[in-house]
Amino acid sequence: MGTETETNERSPAFRRVVETAFELVYPRSCWICDERIVRAESSGGRVVVGASVFRVPLSALVCDECRRAASVPARTFCRRCGRVALRETARGDDALCRFCLRKTGALKFAFDEVRPMHFYRGTTRALVLQLKRTTDPTLAEIAARLYFESRRRVLKAFRPDAVVPVPMNWRRRFLRSVNSPDFLASALARELGVPCWAKTIRRVRATPPQSSVDWAARRDNVAGAFALSGGKKDGPLERLKGKRILLVDDAFTSGATANEIAALLKESGGVEAVCVATLARAGLGKGRRLQCFGG
Ligand SMILES: [Zn+2]
Ligand SMILES: [Zn+2]
Repeated sequence: MGTETETNERSPAFRRVVETAFELVYPRSCWICDERIVRAESSGGRVVVGASVFRVPLSALVCDECRRAASVPARTFCRRCGRVALRETARGDDALCRFCLRKTGALKFAFDEVRPMHFYRGTTRALVLQLKRTTDPTLAEIAARLYFESRRRVLKAFRPDAVVPVPMNWRRRFLRSVNSPDFLASALARELGVPCWAKTIRRVRATPPQSSVDWAARRDNVAGAFALSGGKKDGPLERLKGKRILLVDDAFTSGATANEIAALLKESGGVEAVCVATLARAGLGKGRRLQCFGG
């Protein structure tokens, strides 16, 4: 992380030479779909993008097909709830679903907008599942760069002051060695040039797995599960005041967790606005998914 400034100090030409050399040393194999990557990892070949001095081009890490498959236009999703947006509202990136447009049946989320990269299926599903299993932070770095590539415009338009990850359940943390929301958040913060406040939210109680898809059950499941850390002078509570926060999670299903945290950030932290950045929008029925358009 601390090497990013070092990266920027190198001349572009010198960097390009190193990047080309890198591509020769590590023949192109996609981090999402190519099994050769598994062999490279098991033989000890590690490509640490996040902590490396030289920034490897995304095209050398992910194949064109996966790159294309990992992203749909931002206007595909309702900006308020992440459901499939109505075609007629899809100008710019401010598309709305029929619920949010007619304000009937719309869920009143505490966050201001949600920006999924894709539906939870295909390449994006594979990416999210791999992130949950891997012990190498490189994949999170790649995921963040894929996300940034397709959501750059809406992220910049939101003008975040800082990036905050959704904390993992400690049981899940124990089982995994990599915390994907944390790595995603810090990589996204680097892309945006804003700080990552990783320890802002903590879980105060373990929540049972979200087994139901019912919104009310999911909301009750996470009610009071989080707290803001610190609260001392210049601690998280002070620095949150009036800020615009990008809240990062790997997947978004009902929005109950993001909603709970956004409410906490606003009510207790005095945060001005919350945008949820997520790789995958899950929990949408097949019929609704088919309304996807534009890629
Ligand atoms: Zn691929
Ligand atoms: Zn909506």
